[in-house]
Amino acid sequence: MSTIGILGGGQLARMLALAGAPLGLRFLVVDSSTDACAAQVAPLLRADWRDFDALADFAKRIDVATFDFENVPADTAHWLTEHTQVFPNPRALSISQDRLAEKTLFRQIGLDTPAFAAVDSSEGLARAVDEIGVPSILKTRRLGYDGKGQFRLRSRDDVDAAWQALGGAPSILEAFVPFERELSVIAVRARNGEFRAYPLTQNWHADGILSASLAPAPDSEALAPVAFAHARRIAEELDYVGTFALELFVKDGKLLGNEMAPRVHNSGHWTIEGAPSSQFENHVRAVCGLPLGDTSALGVSVMLNWIGELPSAQAVLAEPRAHWHDYGKSPRAGRKVGHATLRAADAREMIERLSRVARALGREEQAAPVLAVLHKQV
Ligand code: AMP
Repeated sequence: MSTIGILGGGQLARMLALAGAPLGLRFLVVDSSTDACAAQVAPLLRADWRDFDALADFAKRIDVATFDFENVPADTAHWLTEHTQVFPNPRALSISQDRLAEKTLFRQIGLDTPAFAAVDSSEGLARAVDEIGVPSILKTRRLGYDGKGQFRLRSRDDVDAAWQALGGAPSILEAFVPFERELSVIAVRARNGEFRAYPLTQNWHADGILSASLAPAPDSEALAPVAFAHARRIAEELDYVGTFALELFVKDGKLLGNEMAPRVHNSGHWTIEGAPSSQFENHVRAVCGLPLGDTSALGVSVMLNWIGELPSAQAVLAEPRAHWHDYGKSPRAGRKVGHATLRAADAREMIERLSRVARALGREEQAAPVLAVLHKQV
C-alpha cells in the first residue's frame, strides 16, 4: 500500500484522494490553511511549504510526493527530491511556473505561440509595446492563474497603468489573439514513458476563469493528432510523470500554445464521469508506477464551473446522467466552489439536457456558447 503526499489541499487534492481511494492508496495533504477542503477527505499536515522540519516529517510518512498547485516554491520541490520520490520533477514544475520559459519551450518543440516579449522595466514595456503592438496583455511571469496577474493594454497610453497594476514584477507582453476557440489537451505520462491523451476539450472562460468545457471538442479530428504530438513532445522534453494540461488557442484553424499546467486541470474535470479512468485516477496511477487507464470519452460531456457560490443542486441531482460536485469550500467572489458534469450519448441529447438544467439553475448565459456549438453539430 502506498501513501501519496500532496502539496496543496484544494479541490484538486480532494479529487485526487477520492480517485485514489478505490485503488487502496492513502493520502497525506500539506497545506497551511485551516480550511483546506481536501482535509475533509484526507489527513492534513498543517504546515507552511517552507517549514522544512514539517516537510521532513511529511517525507517520512509518504512514498511519493505530488502537487495540487504549480506555484510550490522551487527549493521546496528540490528539497523533497532528496527525501522522497517527487512527480512531476522540479524542472517540469519550474518551467511551467514561468511564462517566459514555458513559451520558449513551446517554440522549441515546434508549437507556435502568440507573439511575446520579456518585460523587466517600464521602459522595457514601452519597447515591447512598439514591437508587439496593441491590443496586448501584460502577464506576470510567475504566480499568475485564473486571469490574475494580467493587464490588458488597449493603447500605448496604458503602459504606466499596466506596469503599476502588476507591481513592476518581471512579466511578458503577449499579443492579444482574437481566437476562434480555446482547446485543452489533458494528457498523462507514466514513469515508463507511456503517453495517453483524452479527447480534446473545448473551453470557455469568463473574466479569465474557466466557465464551461465540452468534450470531445467538436470538429477537432484534424487538430487532435497535432495537439497530442505537441503535448507528447513537451512531456518527453520535461521527462514529465503524471497528468498535465496544455491550453491552446485556435486561430485561423492553427494551434497556438497559451500555457501548460503541471497538474490535473479544471478543464479535465469532465473525465471523472466522462471517461473510463479520470485524469485524477491516471495521475495517481502514473506517480505510483501503475499501468495507465483508458482515456477514451464515454459519449459527450459538458462541465459547468461554479464560481463564487453554488447554485441549488436540485436540478442537477434530478437529471439523469448529471453529476454534482461540491468542493466543501466557503463561498467567496472568484473562488471555484464546485462544478457539475452532464453526460449524454450525443450532441442532440446534450442540447436537451443542458438546456433543461441551465434553465432550472438560471444559468442560460453560461450554457449559451456551449449550446451554440452543439447546435452546429446536429
Ligand atoms: P491565462 O491565465 O494565460 O491562461 O489566461 C486566462 C484566459 O485569458 C485565457 O484562457 C484566454 O481566455 C484569455 N487570454 C489569455 N491570453 C490571451 C491572449 N494572448 N489573447 C487572447 N486571450 C487571452
